[in-house]
Formats: sequence, structure tokens, C-alpha cells
Amino acid sequence: MIGFELTEEQSVYVRTAREFARTRMAPYAAELDRREESFFDWDIVRRFAEADLLGLPIPADYGGAGVDYLTAALVSEELGAGCAGMTVIAGTTWLALISIMLVGSDEQKARYLPRICEAGGRLAALASTETEAGSDIAAMRTTAARRGDCYVLNGAKHYITNAGLADFYVVFATTDPAKRHAGINAFIVDGDSKGLSMGRIEDKMGLRASRNAELILEEVEVPAENLLGEEGTGFLVLMQTLDTARPCLGAISVGLARAAFEAALSHARTREQYGRPLIENQGVSFMLADMATDIDAARLLTWRAAWLTDRAMDSTRASSMSKVCTTETAERVCSQAIDLFGAVAYSRDLPLEKYLRDAKAMTIYEGANLIQRIIISSAL
Ligand SMILES: Cc1cc2nc3c(=O)[nH]c(=O)nc-3n(C[C@H](O)[C@H](O)[C@H](O)COP(=O)(O)OP(=O)(O)OC[C@H]3O[C@@H](n4cnc5c(N)ncnc54)[C@H](O)[C@@H]3O)c2cc1C
Repeated sequence: MIGFELTEEQSVYVRTAREFARTRMAPYAAELDRREESFFDWDIVRRFAEADLLGLPIPADYGGAGVDYLTAALVSEELGAGCAGMTVIAGTTWLALISIMLVGSDEQKARYLPRICEAGGRLAALASTETEAGSDIAAMRTTAARRGDCYVLNGAKHYITNAGLADFYVVFATTDPAKRHAGINAFIVDGDSKGLSMGRIEDKMGLRASRNAELILEEVEVPAENLLGEEGTGFLVLMQTLDTARPCLGAISVGLARAAFEAALSHARTREQYGRPLIENQGVSFMLADMATDIDAARLLTWRAAWLTDRAMDSTRASSMSKVCTTETAERVCSQAIDLFGAVAYSRDLPLEKYLRDAKAMTIYEGANLIQRIIISSAL
């Protein structure tokens, strides 16, 4: 059976997250969007920590809230409506945590998961992408060579969210580039490891509250016990992690689309041209109807993907569908909202143009949408 009622606990999470987004995120969004790339606002991390949002999916045994992925998606939608850029700071932390929760040993979980729940706020990050290895992950050139009790990592990752800020990283490196996927391994790398440094910070189009930068690894010694999962299974770890996390990424996009839609609806009700509110023109009301329908459809796909994930059922196709639908809905709805506002929304005085810039990023990261279409079509 399928039901759409939220549990009492989920309703409380939604209400709390909505209030958090309204009071603790949205008021700062424009300012952080205009910041210099080198500036990072740790206050948002502290606010996330105070609200226990960073450890949301971490099991209670390790100090987290231990919510299921459907609840995490519900919260992600609310935060995404507040500011997608700030939300991905927490979302990327969850991404790294998910790898550890999925395949980490008891010792790895006990060592790393509680750190993120500590007072004050700490971040995590996941580093796979390289300049020559984006969608084609198996082309990565960052190497891991076994030396005694350690693996020694050398290479450079780029466009890494939370780079230079994270307490620890889940880093993907190959023990043998010729083996392609089968050579890839996942490691937990402490942020203060010798030889680990941050390179160029990206001057991004959107999601500017978050930081993306190069992560440079020069002779970084990683204890062998920090290998995540079996040797040679890193590609699988990454795919499982992304499948699991995509409903939350999708939900951020739903929140972003909802924020743009709500602004457009309110504007269409109050803005008068030709002696009547915009919404009294059927063309405008139909456009709003399409936007609302698209957002609902996108939301339902994220809920299904999260529901499957929570039941440990195969969610790969559903997660990719939710990623494609939600992110492209967000891009389209944000653009339509600007259409309904006209010139005022083209200015930075309103958040609409930021919404559109933020939405574009969502179609690219955690697996670009054309790659999601490959995953979906190969499952048909
Ligand atoms: C805001 C943001 C945050 C990010 N954060 C992280 C992070 O925290 N960690 C991390 O590791 N990475 C991160 N990334 C990188 C992201 O995962 C990659 O950008 C993404 O995987 C795509 O890789 P690419 O940019 O190299 O594009 P490419 O792989 O060069 O692809 C370019 C285009 O070609 C398409 N394409 C490629 N191959 C095929 C094919 N075989 N068939 C059809 N189409 C194809 C792609 O879909 C895409 O549209 C982030 C990126 C962004 C924009």
C-alpha cells in the first residue's frame, strides 16, 4: 500500500526545518551569494550544528538523529527552499557520511561519524572528480600505493565541495589505472593529513554560499585501516553512495523550485497590468498550474526513490529519475518564475536570478543528467 501521510515525527522535522530555513538561512542567502570565493561563513555550519542537521542521517548510536532517507529528503526540501547553496554544505557532508554508513567498519563508524555530531559543527567531503575524470570516473589518475601499513595517495581532485573545510574526506584513488573501475578504492582521509592541501577555489555561477576547490594530495599517508570496503570496490562504493544520496539532492531542487514558484504565485496575484492581476489571465494561470504540477511530480519521484532506499530495495533507476526530473524541474520553474516577474526578477534585488543560477548546478553535480539518462535507459 502507498500512503502520503507524514508521521508525527516527520511533520515536526518539516516544521522545524521550514522555520530554520526561513529565519536562519534565507535572510543570509543574498549576502553569501555575493561573497568572495575565498570567504566561507562558518556561522551557517554552527547554525546547522545547533539544529542537529549535520548528523541528521547518522544512526543514534553514533550521536546522530538517525532519520530515514525519506525524512532526510523532507528536510532537504525545506532547506533547499531557504538557500540551496547553504544546503549543499550539509548535503555534501551527508554524502561522505553515507559512504561510511554503507560500507564502513564498526571502528571507522565509531571514529568518524560522531565527529560530525559534535557541538560547533564539523564538515565532511567526498572527492572523486578530477580534471580528466568527471563522468568517466574510471579515468582517474589519483593513485594509492600500498607501503607497509599505509596507502600513499598522490594526485589532485577538482571541484570538491567543502574542500579545505572538511574534518575528513572520502577520497577515491586507483591502485592501478589500467584496471579502470576495478582499480578504484575509497579511503577516509583526515583533513589535517600531511601532504593534503587545498588548491584553487572556484568562482562559481551559483551555489556560492558553498565552497568548491581543488584538493591536492602529495604523498599523503593513509593508514590501511582507513580503506573503505574491500580493495578494488571503490567504484561500487561511490555508485551506492550516489544512489542513496540522490533523493536528498533531488529534494533540494524541489525546495528551490517551490521557493521560486511561491514567489511567482504571490507576484501574479498582486501585480496588475491591463487593469487586472496577472493571474486573471488564463495564459498566466495555466503556466502556474504547470509549474505546480511539475513540482508535485518531481517531489513524488524523490519520495519514491527515498522510500526504496529506506527499504534497501533497488533504487538506482528511481534515484536517477528523481535526479533528472527534480533538477530540470527546478531549472524550468525558476526560469518561468522570472518570466512571470519580468524585469524586476532579472535584477539581483530579488532572489529569482540566484535561484536559476543555483538550479543549473544541480543538473551537473552528483552525476550530470545525461549520465543519469544512460543509467535510466540501460535499466529499461
Ligand atoms: C556545484 C558542483 C559541486 C560539485 N561537488 C563535487 C564534490 O563534492 N565531489 C566531487 O567529486 N565532484 C564534485 N563535482 C563535480 C561533478 O561531480 C562533475 O562535474 C560531474 O560528475 C560531471 O563531470 P564533468 O564536469 O567533468 O563533466 P564531463 O564528464 O566532462 O561531462 C560533460 C558533459 O558531457 C556529458 N557526457 C559525458 N560523457 C557522456 C556520455 N558517455 N554520454 C553522454 N553524455 C556524456 C555529461 O553528462 C555532461 O553533460 C561538483 C560539481 C559542481 C558543478
